[in-house]
Amino acid sequence: SVRVRFAPSPTGMLHIGGLRTALYNYLFAKGHEDGVFVLRIEDTDQTRYVEGAEQDIIESLKWTGMEIDEGPENPGEVGPYRQSERKEMYAQYAEQLVEQGQAYYAFDTPEELDQMRERLKKSGNPAPKYDAITRMSMKNSLTLPQEEVERKLEEGEEYVIRLKVPRRETIRFEDEVRGFVSFESKGLDDQVLLKSDGMPTYHLANVVDDHLMEITHVIRGEEWLSSAPKHILMYEYFGWEPPKMAHLPLIMSPSGGKLSKRKAESEGIPINTKDYIEQKFEPEALVNFLAYLGWSPGDDTELHTMDELIDLFSLDRVSKGGAVFDYKKLTWYNEHYLREKPVDELYPRVKVIAEEHGIEPDEEYMKQIIPLMKDRVSKIEDFVTIGRFFFEDPEGYEDRALKKWKDNSAELLSAYVEEVEKLDEDEFKAKILKDKIKEVINAHDVGFGPLMMPLRVAVSGMGYGPDLTPTLELLGKETTIHRINTAIE
Ligand code: GLU
Repeated sequence: SVRVRFAPSPTGMLHIGGLRTALYNYLFAKGHEDGVFVLRIEDTDQTRYVEGAEQDIIESLKWTGMEIDEGPENPGEVGPYRQSERKEMYAQYAEQLVEQGQAYYAFDTPEELDQMRERLKKSGNPAPKYDAITRMSMKNSLTLPQEEVERKLEEGEEYVIRLKVPRRETIRFEDEVRGFVSFESKGLDDQVLLKSDGMPTYHLANVVDDHLMEITHVIRGEEWLSSAPKHILMYEYFGWEPPKMAHLPLIMSPSGGKLSKRKAESEGIPINTKDYIEQKFEPEALVNFLAYLGWSPGDDTELHTMDELIDLFSLDRVSKGGAVFDYKKLTWYNEHYLREKPVDELYPRVKVIAEEHGIEPDEEYMKQIIPLMKDRVSKIEDFVTIGRFFFEDPEGYEDRALKKWKDNSAELLSAYVEEVEKLDEDEFKAKILKDKIKEVINAHDVGFGPLMMPLRVAVSGMGYGPDLTPTLELLGKETTIHRINTAIE
């Protein structure tokens, strides 16, 4: 059965591209009977380790509704699920390849490596690498007699183990997204597998673990495509069957180019999943949006729950080209999912936000405001920020709102106040309030706008907002009249 893994390095907060990779793995696994979604923490590089990153990854996945079948917190049978806890396992595999003549000890010092790079750069090689040609000029076992290698090892000279990449070979494999891809081995370097401190590199640990954890499909970002031929070579050397591979398209910035952290920042796009959680996006919206960022079911539907996405998802509909991150589209999804949610589900969340803004909402009142505002909000916070006027008099009037204030506004509003003052409290209802608007505009021979617009400005301070007369009804007679009179003055 299908087993996939999401294998982040805990080097920072989980960014949005990583979350999409996790999601595609999850959708693919759950779309197969008994499919298993594994979380493996790739933390062999201790220098890049960021405290709290693993927790952030796990919380982010949980927030979106992805359930981890096997991971550090709920290990299955192929654990441990943190590479730092597996570090003793890797060296033997590198040694195995040395014994087979498919990897070798290299004793080059960092200074020597620097000199090599300098030398190659000077001779016009922009991307110098350690390869079959370099081997000849460097201190490694392929040019050293066996006894000397043994002597060096005995004397404790530092070494790394490098993969021996063949000189002229074409490495081909079929990518589930990109189809057949091929690489010339002369373009690959002799990848370090085991570092001088005995720790594996990403490449060794990744391949060994994918094998030991019985991963059937490797689904990851396009930036790893260039590593794939080295991995394929290693599977071949070990005599293991390689997993199927799928490399996902890059996420692009709206202005073009890869959506890097810096680019996202300058374009006002939050990059970490945590930012979306803190900004109180609806998880369903982010999931739906990310699912379509590089994939589509091939019809014109756009709105799908996680369960539907699981049914619909397939790797052969993942696009090869970059996927542009459209923040407006995300907002659109968010509005949709907010509107879908029943008042009872929204109320407790709105209440918390209101309290953060120093508002102590009355439950019944708030539960009337929420449906009234539902189709005017983009994020849940808007119930409180745009809806603030339901709780207190506007502090001032927006510039945009003031533009709607015309020469005849005060006169029309006065006429309206005169009418609605005659109403009893229990007559202060949307329908009647609307009739009164009609009476006043007819009497003054103007359209709706000249009265409705300043009326909205007066009661809310804003040029836009929820349906006007239900709003007045909710605010009540006293507040409405008070605010209109304040505005006229
Ligand atoms: N640890 C790698 C990362 O941070 C995993 C790449 C892969 O999936 O092979 O993305």
